[in-house]
Amino acid sequence: MSAKPEQFEFQAEISQLLSLLVNTIYSNKEIFLRELISNSSDALDKIRYEALSDPSKLDSGKDLRVDIVPDKDNKTLTIRDTGIGMTKADLVNNLGTIARSGTKQFMEALSAGADVSMIGQFGVGFYSAYLVADKVTVVSKHNDDEQYIWESSAGGTFTLAQDEEGEQLGRGTKIVLHLKDEQTDYLNESKIKEVVKKHSEFISYPIYLHVLKETEKEVPDEDAEEAKETEEDEDQKAKIEEVDDEDEDKEKEKKAKTKKVKESKIEEEELNKTKPIWTRNPQDITTEEYGSFYKSLSNDWEDHLAVKHFSVEGQLEFRAILFVPKRAPFDLFETKKTKNNIKLYVRRVFITDDATDLIPEWLSFVKGVVDSEDLPLNLSRETLQQNKIMKVIKKNIVKKTLELFTEIAEDREQFDKFYSAFSKNIKLGIHEDSQNRSTLAKLLRFNSTKSADETTSLTDYITRMPEHQKQMYYITGESLKAVQKSPFLDSLKDKGFEVLFLVDPIDEYAFTQLKEFEGKKLVDITKDFELEETEDEKKEREEEEKEYEALAKALKNVLGDKVEKVVVSHKLVGAPCAIRTGQFGWSANMERIMKAQALRDTSMSSYMSSKKTFEISPKSPIIKELKKKVEADGENDRTVKSITQLLFETSLLVSGFTIDEPAGFAERIHKLVSLGLNVDEEAETSEEKAAEEATPAAEGAGESAMEEVD
Ligand code: ADP
Repeated sequence: MSAKPEQFEFQAEISQLLSLLVNTIYSNKEIFLRELISNSSDALDKIRYEALSDPSKLDSGKDLRVDIVPDKDNKTLTIRDTGIGMTKADLVNNLGTIARSGTKQFMEALSAGADVSMIGQFGVGFYSAYLVADKVTVVSKHNDDEQYIWESSAGGTFTLAQDEEGEQLGRGTKIVLHLKDEQTDYLNESKIKEVVKKHSEFISYPIYLHVLKETEKEVPDEDAEEAKETEEDEDQKAKIEEVDDEDEDKEKEKKAKTKKVKESKIEEEELNKTKPIWTRNPQDITTEEYGSFYKSLSNDWEDHLAVKHFSVEGQLEFRAILFVPKRAPFDLFETKKTKNNIKLYVRRVFITDDATDLIPEWLSFVKGVVDSEDLPLNLSRETLQQNKIMKVIKKNIVKKTLELFTEIAEDREQFDKFYSAFSKNIKLGIHEDSQNRSTLAKLLRFNSTKSADETTSLTDYITRMPEHQKQMYYITGESLKAVQKSPFLDSLKDKGFEVLFLVDPIDEYAFTQLKEFEGKKLVDITKDFELEETEDEKKEREEEEKEYEALAKALKNVLGDKVEKVVVSHKLVGAPCAIRTGQFGWSANMERIMKAQALRDTSMSSYMSSKKTFEISPKSPIIKELKKKVEADGENDRTVKSITQLLFETSLLVSGFTIDEPAGFAERIHKLVSLGLNVDEEAETSEEKAAEEATPAAEGAGESAMEEVD
């Protein structure tokens, strides 16, 4: 080292992670090699990509390769690549000072029992070096900077210095692991081969292991030379008599001239000679091979859930392998992260893993490779976006991915895993991709009034529809518990019509776009809709409507602007009342979702917010009695007013709304409780008085009180 090393402090969480890795016992330490080789491979990808537009970038080392050098004497294992290398600033930033979102999440995952082999998924794979080493030295040379040397034994700091005296790399990075005493097994040829074969077989650059070979070599034997000469004379004489013995003699001759000596030299052995897996015939590829290719591609520690390997021929030619993982990554919907899920190759040359136009965002969890025969090699990321070929490739990828999903759906167990991990993506796809909406809709699964603990598909729902049911029904809400007992379900249950439970916030977005399934209208039963009815039902309804018309009017007068209208409803059965919203505004559920979005644009809420219809059920004894009371005492009676108000507020709650004035509501309930407990007359009146005062006062206080309730 030439200059005096500068010292830097690790960013706090990285420092924590390091001490965890150094000091904790983990069983899966071997993955460090996979992580470092994977970083090398990325670095090689980067320089190869840069060189496509400027070949001179490869001048300082044309061979793109990874070398693994064990050194038993010094107990070091070195991983070296001729990749892009790191400048001084890169070393400072990438290896220690800049916080990474994955650091904390990885530590949390670890303490929750996750396997250390997950490290790569969290974007902190480099630090896995400290699983096996107590000191790590990184020497790196980038085309734009001098060679630098980074070093750290963890413990909170690392040093950095220009490296003029060390072996000059030309370009690339060398990582020297000073192995812990108990980890020297990683210096053995067989161990390294085993680990590379297991985790890094599909790296697309050659990986060379430097092995010390002891060979026995035959060298001319000086001592034997003289002896040989005398022997030769005798042989000459004997030749005439014993022609048959010629071969034997030659053998003797050779032996006599040489002797064996042991010689040791370093040999480079290529560890990954397999040709790119996607160029091979799918029939010749085993599940294990796909599995290890998937792992090398995705940094996943588990096998994939499903794979599709295909080629497209004709006007356009490409091959691709697409994988569906078993789980969603921890940052699936973190929008700012660049997604490197599909690697794009052009005639076997890696181009980019950043081609955003290769797969739509809702499919961002699909991993794989695409190798095009038609794209030009010197393609910049910018021109890639407008490229027509890319558009066709994308379309094909989406098509094949959907085929793959449909295949997964054939196996219940597989599909359950798939659905619990990626149902949000499917729903997002329904929302965004109008072309594939109906195919995606077939993949949806929901609990319903008829599905018991299982879930049902929309297709199965249709098979259960009674003949006179024309539309498909669903209810939206916050949770299964909240919707399972909703008063809106009663009349549909009575008729034997199944209702789907949509309790994921994204469900309603998806269904609003979907609108229908196989020609059947999808109807939200918390909104206004027309229910199929028989002639008899119609007659009964019309009679009841007439009978209760006056009550509806009176209640509307009591409630004023709080509701759009009050109607007599044949859609409710047991429950006295409920609040239904208009067909085109937000449902109660959507209003809840929108309120929960901190950054929403509040201007929308004024015209989208739900138009409330207060529905009363003529079948309910409460409503029957209320009718009598209104007829007897009139709508201005205090009890009538109070009861109406209370019925309205409880309806808000069961229908999925929040109450604007919770304090007033609480007072009314307390009054009822007092009645039930026979609290004395005087106390009751004073409370009543307080309640009356509280109601108008609560207008202003309402909002803050609601926050507390939330
Ligand atoms: P990740 O590779 O997921 O970004 P790592 O912790 O493994 O996370 O590496 C951090 C960063 O350090 C990489 O993103 C890369 O910029 C840089 N880096 C690591 N190894 C190398 C290497 N061999 N050559 C060049 N850059 C490297």
